[in-house]
Amino acid sequence: MEASVTRPLSGWGRFPVETCRLYRPEKRRALAEILASGQESSWIARGLGRSYGDAALNAGAGVISFERLNRFIGFDPESGVLECEGGTSLEEILRHFLPRGYFPPVTPGTKFVTLGGAIAHDVHGKNHHRAGTISAFLLDFRLLTAEGEILTCSREENPEIFWATVGGTGLTGLVVSARVRLAPVETAYLRVDYRRAGNVEEAVAALTESDHLYEHSVAWIDCLARGSALGRSVLMRANHAKKEEVPTRLGDPLSPRRAAGRSIPFDFPSAALSPLTIRAFNAVFYNAHPTAPGKIVDYDRFFYPLDSIHHWNRMYGKRGFTQYQVVFPAESGLAGLIELLRRLSASGRGSFLGVLKRFGDANAGLLSFPRSGYTLALDLPMEEGLPSFLRELDRLLLDFGGRVYLAKDAVTTAASFAAMYPRLDEFRQIKARLDPRGRLSSSLARRVGIVPGPP
Ligand SMILES: Cc1cc2nc3c(=O)[nH]c(=O)nc-3n(C[C@H](O)[C@H](O)[C@H](O)COP(=O)(O)OP(=O)(O)OC[C@H]3O[C@@H](n4cnc5c(N)ncnc54)[C@H](O)[C@@H]3O)c2cc1C
Repeated sequence: MEASVTRPLSGWGRFPVETCRLYRPEKRRALAEILASGQESSWIARGLGRSYGDAALNAGAGVISFERLNRFIGFDPESGVLECEGGTSLEEILRHFLPRGYFPPVTPGTKFVTLGGAIAHDVHGKNHHRAGTISAFLLDFRLLTAEGEILTCSREENPEIFWATVGGTGLTGLVVSARVRLAPVETAYLRVDYRRAGNVEEAVAALTESDHLYEHSVAWIDCLARGSALGRSVLMRANHAKKEEVPTRLGDPLSPRRAAGRSIPFDFPSAALSPLTIRAFNAVFYNAHPTAPGKIVDYDRFFYPLDSIHHWNRMYGKRGFTQYQVVFPAESGLAGLIELLRRLSASGRGSFLGVLKRFGDANAGLLSFPRSGYTLALDLPMEEGLPSFLRELDRLLLDFGGRVYLAKDAVTTAASFAAMYPRLDEFRQIKARLDPRGRLSSSLARRVGIVPGPP
């Protein structure tokens, strides 16, 4: 039987920290043995722990790490379809397949996520307006249910389980392996247009008018600017560069030279991140990015600017931080964004990383986050009063018909969550069918009331 270690665990935001029993199986067949062992009251899968809050935590119970279940199973160069274990990371996929001309079709802002974790949150990238979420490129996956059954799930086979599992935060079963279609690319570079927007209205207008010209599009937003500059932004929009666009001095266009990674060696004192330092950083960032078209930028700098700074989450000190990511529907989006930014700016809370993006249409995922509209993501240091402030913002969000993203969330209540995700009951019914004894559970699932039990 697999051994476990009892240890404090957290997500990327380092809040909350909970004691869990961690299992690290090396073979796929061990997964069924662990679930059948009855050693824990419940279990939840864990990838690389890059969700911010408690999605991959299970206080006082079992957490099954997929870190060692990261093997490639097969690849078809004709179609670009890759089959791999659920613990395979985007970083591993990039390392092996980018030199052969393939890129993950959808990628979050870090490559240190597993395919299983990406499916469980139905992740989106900077190309949601054109491509949708990761599930749009998923052919199928094998799901090990809490009762020990292996199900193949796709749009045709077990479709209701497919759509419950994408975005289902690991609660329908363990994604043992999956087949995903990679995107062919000529180079590892992007041709990026930078454009400043003086305030949030201008940013939203630019995203709405010309996003269709770009595969990838995102705006960094200064959340501390006020008055007529409220929400001033730098838009960064890009298409994959063609071979002839990459200067020959850069060498092999599919293998950019790598700069050495840096690391944050210790927890920063909490005073390091005051509104003052954030305001200074924001001013420098804004001024350093004048409007400039057609810059050739390597994929790491464009997609994963923070990945080169290892442990950057230590910058927020021991108390950790959270990311408040929300989506406002297209119809009420701008008014909602303006009101949220006003409240944030009035509260004096700053966010280093404010990111604004336009989403395309929602898919059929029962708990999938993206829907047509505008999404805003804010990294906020954890401090007294923050959870109640964010719960107030949840009420504002509800007034505008929006919702929060569970991959980032650490504070939303069950009542708000139920109001934000109208297909929750459908999800619960499928979960009850697959897991009648409630053996798959997580701290997040109990907190937001997806499953019963104390948080
Ligand atoms: C810097 C940064 C930028 C990010 N940018 C984005 C972004 O742009 N877009 C976006 O959508 N997200 C983004 N994220 C969030 C991230 O993509 C998701 O939280 C993702 O789920 C993390 O994957 P993971 O492998 O670390 O999973 P974990 O965080 O370990 O787990 C996440 C969920 O997946 C479940 N899970 C993990 N493995 C399996 C499995 N094999 N079977 C079943 N369930 C499983 C867990 O139970 C949990 O519910 C970002 C995160 C960071 C840190």
